[in-house]
Amino acid sequence: MNTPIWAEELIQEAIEYRGSKIKPVINWTEKDRTYTTGTARTPLKKGKEYIYKNRKVHCVKGCRAKISITAGTDMEDLKEGILHEVAHILSPPYTHHDRSFYRIAWDLFNHFELDLEKCLGREGRYKNIAKVEFNYLRKEGKL
Ligand SMILES: [Zn+2]
Repeated sequence: MNTPIWAEELIQEAIEYRGSKIKPVINWTEKDRTYTTGTARTPLKKGKEYIYKNRKVHCVKGCRAKISITAGTDMEDLKEGILHEVAHILSPPYTHHDRSFYRIAWDLFNHFELDLEKCLGREGRYKNIAKVEFNYLRKEGKL
């Protein structure tokens, strides 16, 4: 299924806004349900060393960034889902939902004018760390 132009543009704009030049492969699927799900693969550089679970990992093949989206029907949720996956590819490899991830995610949600309270509901319901970073950035006046 082709990625809608607006979604491609949102992804590219978000990447450029964060000062990156990554060009991810995008896999797009649509489902007749409310909520969006997605996965992301952080780009890896061939020959570079990474830290994974406190161990050094040597990247043999390298790989391109990839974002997979299964789009639901709720537009606001879809945009948040897309930006969530963009935040993953902009985070260091082998990291997941930690505070540095959420620093990027909240910056993107804020920049693209999503309803932050709704985002907090969706992100925070199963990821307490999302709330911790949200409260921190609020206190610092960044959101
Ligand atoms: Zn995630």
